[in-house]
Amino acid sequence: MTPSPHFAGRFAPSPSGDMHIGNLRTALLAWIWARRSGRDFVLRVEDIDRVQEGAAERQLEDLKTLGLDWDGDALFQSTRHDAHVDAINRLKDHGLLFECYCSRKDIREAASAPHVLPGTYPGTCRHLSDADRARERERLAKNGRSPALRLDPKVDEWTIRDALFGEISEPIDYVVLQRGDGTIAYNLVVVVDDDFQGVDQVVRADDLLTSAPTQAYIAHELGIAQPSYVHVPLVVNEGGDRLAKRDGAVTLRELLDGGWTVEDVVGAIAGSLGFEARTAAELLEVFDPAAMNRDQWVFQPPQF
Ligand code: GLU
Repeated sequence: MTPSPHFAGRFAPSPSGDMHIGNLRTALLAWIWARRSGRDFVLRVEDIDRVQEGAAERQLEDLKTLGLDWDGDALFQSTRHDAHVDAINRLKDHGLLFECYCSRKDIREAASAPHVLPGTYPGTCRHLSDADRARERERLAKNGRSPALRLDPKVDEWTIRDALFGEISEPIDYVVLQRGDGTIAYNLVVVVDDDFQGVDQVVRADDLLTSAPTQAYIAHELGIAQPSYVHVPLVVNEGGDRLAKRDGAVTLRELLDGGWTVEDVVGAIAGSLGFEARTAAELLEVFDPAAMNRDQWVFQPPQF
């Protein structure tokens, strides 16, 4: 497969189930942002982890139903393993990875020590001697486990520019880039595959905003140009939590089964953004980023 020579925007769903109206809204916005700027629009199925049988095919169908089109075939991320391993090796060669032998429990306990933010890795394995490493490797091997690989950043923080949020700086953490089971982590593969697909514009939900500086830093270390970023508001339930299945009729299929038309779905999404449109093509026509409603959308599922 040869990489796309074009500049492109993208949508990169995880095939973990049917897409809900929040995913559809993000997909529409990504498509609109790409098309308005004359870019290609490409799809990537992020099927390395959390895959539900048949979900990818249903998701692609849903995007077509919604009225979106894309350039070329959707890229299935699981086909890119060799390129992902190559990126791990390049980071290793540049001294940007270290082995971590900790279990989740070790990290939880260390993180409850004073001065360590809960959930962040306290750096336990960063400066071990060769002898300690050999011993730890052996200990894991006895339990049938392998070490994880974490990023060893050369900077403390990194800054990106987001079209809606402005400049965002975040500390660069020792994130896991390869798990002990060999799975290469999202934060690395997203960068490698965006580059492969010619993506220079990343539009996605704003729950990933704080991950963007880490990803941009990894891109920098791999010699990949930083894309432009647009993090768009999430759709939430009445409690303010990200929309989920238990909230009621939230997927495209549930809404259509209940009696909504595709025009109703697009109309509701357009309305939430502050525009009037009944089809994806109409929304593309009338969309204006400066006039877009930037609040989270509280979606109340219709009672059918
Ligand atoms: N696959 C991720 C998701 O569905 C999105 C990743 C991205 O857009 O960078 O949440």
